[in-house]
Amino acid sequence: MIAALRDGVDLALRSRRTATACVCFSLLTVPILLILWCLQAWALTHPHVLLNFRAERLVAAQWGVGLLVLWQALVALLAWRGREVMAARSPWWAAMALGPVLMGWVLLSLVYGLQDTPMGMLLVETLVFARAFFPLRDLKAWMVLGAVLIVGHELLDAFGVVDYAPLLSHPMFDGHGLSDWWTWWLRIMFNASVLPFAAAVFYLFGSLARQRTELESLVRTDMLTGLANRREFMARLAQESQRQRRGDHPLSVVMLDVDHFKQVNDTHGHPAGDQVLASLGALMRASVRQDVDLAARLGGEEFALLLPETDAEGAHRVARKIVEALRGLPIHHAGRLLPVTISAGVASVLDGEGERALRLADDSLYEAKRQGRDRVVMAQAPDVAVTS
Ligand code: GH3
Ligand code: MG
Ligand code: MG
Repeated sequence: MIAALRDGVDLALRSRRTATACVCFSLLTVPILLILWCLQAWALTHPHVLLNFRAERLVAAQWGVGLLVLWQALVALLAWRGREVMAARSPWWAAMALGPVLMGWVLLSLVYGLQDTPMGMLLVETLVFARAFFPLRDLKAWMVLGAVLIVGHELLDAFGVVDYAPLLSHPMFDGHGLSDWWTWWLRIMFNASVLPFAAAVFYLFGSLARQRTELESLVRTDMLTGLANRREFMARLAQESQRQRRGDHPLSVVMLDVDHFKQVNDTHGHPAGDQVLASLGALMRASVRQDVDLAARLGGEEFALLLPETDAEGAHRVARKIVEALRGLPIHHAGRLLPVTISAGVASVLDGEGERALRLADDSLYEAKRQGRDRVVMAQAPDVAVTS
């Protein structure tokens, strides 16, 4: 349930569609507004608490908060119902979700007192939530307007034109301590702002980590076959070369290239060619040791296997297994059987010179093509003991 919710929010954050942003943002702002509404309702119905406020202004604030709750709920509902038809980017909808609640919090912060209540913190939290869901351009105007209101109020306050915290009848903290009411008010509002904020920060860090892992895997993977791509293969080749240099284990490379692949494309179409490559990817993945060997698509219809701690004999066996398996592998596309063969070149080195193994394997592959294809050729002089 929590995982499903997390994935849903992940998707909303990524899609940046206004409809999803409106629903998520509006629903996130409703609970805190409701908490404030309940606290104000308590104050309005308890005369000794009401003494802390200017009663007629508190009534107005109560209406304002109540209307904001209804507005946010309505925006969430309408955005949810219209999510299929609403344009991906819809500035007016964004303005409806953001404008009233942001300006509402600015006003609430000012009337409760920006300096000695958690209302400023809640304003910042609302902004962070808004920024998580909406692009900056939807927010800019409201941020500027909010800043103008706050600075303007501070200036008017400094010149004595308006009161500080005009909603309150006297300062919350008068130098003698807090009344019970303000102690509870501060605790509730403080927790209502800090807890969701901490949860959101945790969530956002988790979401960033998940996206980074996903991106790292995408950068290393060939999308068509699911195998490693050339970048990953070259990186692992360099890594394994380093490792093999410290020991005396052989390092083998197999290069493979589909025979007459152009003909497959020309005769059966490009999608059929892609189907062949995907089937080959599955075959190669199944033919090597998980977590030790690496099967990669270097590009086009060219594949490579990196086989650490495998001698020429072992590498030859793996290559032959793939070439033979392909002969018997029925690859179908649109109801037709696609006859495909592959050629392979194998090379093995003992000195950790992976790049040289790759070159030798490539030469052997060329030789396999020259000899008539659908076969494995081993590098001429398997590198048994190279000394410099
Ligand atoms: P050979 O036996 O000598 O290797 O001949 P070949 O036809 O396989 O080699 P050639 O280099 O002439 O042609 C390679 C073809 O591979 C050409 C290109 O259209 C095709 N190809 C490259 N990448 C892809 C791909 O991602 N999908 C598909 N369907 N075809 C691709
Ligand atoms: Mg080819
Ligand atoms: Mg080729």
